[in-house]
Amino acid sequence: MTFLSDYPITWDMDCQGGGERPGVLLERLIGALGSDAVKTAPEDLAVYSFDAYTDGGSPTAVVLPASTQEVSAIVKIARDCGEPIVARGAGTGLCGGAVPIVGGITLSFARMNRILELDLRNRRARVQAGLINADLSRRVAPSGLFYAPDPSSQQISTIGGNIATNAGGPHCLSYGTTVNHVVGLEVVDDRGEVFSTHLDDTGYDLTAALVGSEGTLGVVTSAWLRLMALPETVRVCVAAFGDIDSASEAVSAIIAAGILPTALEMMDAVITATVEAAFHAGYPTDAGAVLLVEYAGLTEDADAAQAAIHAIAMRHGATSWKSARSEAERAALWAGRKGAAGATGRIAPNYYTQDVCVPRTKLPQALCAVQRAASENGVTVGNVFHAGDGNLHPLLMYDRRDRKQVAAVVDTGNAILHSAIELGGTISGEHGIGWEKRDAMTRVYSTADLATMGRVRDVFDPARMLNPEKIFPSGARCPEVTPQ
Ligand SMILES: Cc1cc2nc3c(=O)[nH]c(=O)nc-3n(C[C@H](O)[C@H](O)[C@H](O)COP(=O)(O)OP(=O)(O)OC[C@H]3O[C@@H](n4cnc5c(N)ncnc54)[C@H](O)[C@@H]3O)c2cc1C
Repeated sequence: MTFLSDYPITWDMDCQGGGERPGVLLERLIGALGSDAVKTAPEDLAVYSFDAYTDGGSPTAVVLPASTQEVSAIVKIARDCGEPIVARGAGTGLCGGAVPIVGGITLSFARMNRILELDLRNRRARVQAGLINADLSRRVAPSGLFYAPDPSSQQISTIGGNIATNAGGPHCLSYGTTVNHVVGLEVVDDRGEVFSTHLDDTGYDLTAALVGSEGTLGVVTSAWLRLMALPETVRVCVAAFGDIDSASEAVSAIIAAGILPTALEMMDAVITATVEAAFHAGYPTDAGAVLLVEYAGLTEDADAAQAAIHAIAMRHGATSWKSARSEAERAALWAGRKGAAGATGRIAPNYYTQDVCVPRTKLPQALCAVQRAASENGVTVGNVFHAGDGNLHPLLMYDRRDRKQVAAVVDTGNAILHSAIELGGTISGEHGIGWEKRDAMTRVYSTADLATMGRVRDVFDPARMLNPEKIFPSGARCPEVTPQ
């Protein structure tokens, strides 16, 4: 884990191609899109210099295309001028993925936010990359449908950003992550050419290759997405436990019993207290840990699953149990859970979210390691996470104006990362690698693994103009650029 402001880097000019002056670049961009779509004022550039992880770098220009053709034109101009391209959705990424580390053009999808086509009979939607995730479910709800991937940022994050990071969310435990819901993509490649991928075709599954590629293999302009039928019944329950260990044991036991809830989320005492103070969502504040369990499906199945989960929770020491009695109570519990990160603004001016995954059975050890790392470094930590997936999100509170606190958070984050790897886990559950974790890639992938990924990248973007300095460890190859 690194904070950009601690490790500033500059774009290695040798990596750049055409080398035309910025004046020419801007002239051509304005010629192609009009001055309203090209932002260069310092206050505009400042807005695009950070994401939800950190800041660093400043784009040469921010460009707001309104169509795939305009995206294509921008990429062609950028290529001619040797400028890198960073695609950007809402900037809610938590690993520096949309931060223009080495400058170049930030391609914002703010104006490409429409639903292009609804095929309700086949339960599919074609949407532009800048569409906000939650807008799709809102639009198709009257037809009894929804879009399943639901990152907690879904009220603001975009489909393009979700695709690029293969976003997960509380309901991905049973519905799968974004990759399971993308049927096809329209993509602008590194030369500005438009190509499509579709799952119904045979041949290489390029859709899966592009989902999770963090803007390094192509710029996604639109996507065909799978829609699902709204369940007949949704049951949401809250179980309180004396400590995180017994809640973790209950999580393992629920899954081991063959029950797959639609969501199985855990919050510790720090988070429930903060959430309750902010939202009055209905969580108990005297518990060491709280499980939020949702089961959706046919009424009979949901009732049976709820009874079985209740019994397991009580066997594992649940101190209280409650079931949401109305849609309003259910919505309040979810609003509290999804607003948990924002609510920590009540504790500290800044928080850093670590994102690691461990085998579910290792949750107690992993959480113990989180507590140890935090207390050794004097950092306040709150845990709110997708327990069913073993996907931890310790929120480390700090004040970034205080260098000592920043250093303590960096050390804590690294220690948590290290312990997750030791426990057989991964360096990211869902937030991606971006800038932040690129050097940690060598800790989980062999040289051969990374070389293979590098070869895939070279096929799509040999000049590495698309979101440079992301995913691959620092010091990776700096190729010569030959615009064609
Ligand atoms: C409070 C909070 C809660 C969150 N909860 C979750 C969660 O539950 N699950 C989860 O997975 N994540 C979560 N996140 C992280 C973040 O919201 C996701 O990674 C999200 O998918 C990013 O979407 P975005 O539109 O903000 O993308 P950005 O941050 O703008 O970009 C993210 C990456 O996608 C690339 N990109 C964006 N658009 C395109 C495009 N059109 N073509 C190619 N590449 C593109 C960018 O270059 C960058 O690498 C959370 C973040 C916050 C702040």
